[in-house]
Amino acid sequence: MVTDPARKRRSDPGDPDKCPVYDLHKVFTPIGVREQTIIPGCTRALFGCLDCKDVLLQHMLPVLTPIREKREELIARPAQSAEVLNEGSARARTVAAATLKEAREAMHLL
Ligand code: SF4
Repeated sequence: MVTDPARKRRSDPGDPDKCPVYDLHKVFTPIGVREQTIIPGCTRALFGCLDCKDVLLQHMLPVLTPIREKREELIARPAQSAEVLNEGSARARTVAAATLKEAREAMHLL
């Protein structure tokens, strides 16, 4: 994954706000870790981008592992997968219809 282009060498300071890896940190890494480890590590070149990605992975895996396991479980049972997809589609249709009705009312299109 690309990082801040200013960090050509490990000793080059970077800017997390210019780095897509940091965008993922904002989603997965607690703010305390970002403020105490990631931002100073990047801006003062205290660690390299691989170290930074390791920290990200530590916080992503607990979130993504159950999703991946569920996916593998569903792939192993295609009939159950179709049932889950159909149920999800039905729920999404209900929500979408209500939202569309609300939008049409707001725009005086009904
Ligand atoms: S240290 Fe992290 S935030 Fe900084 S440029 Fe590298 S990957 Fe991006």
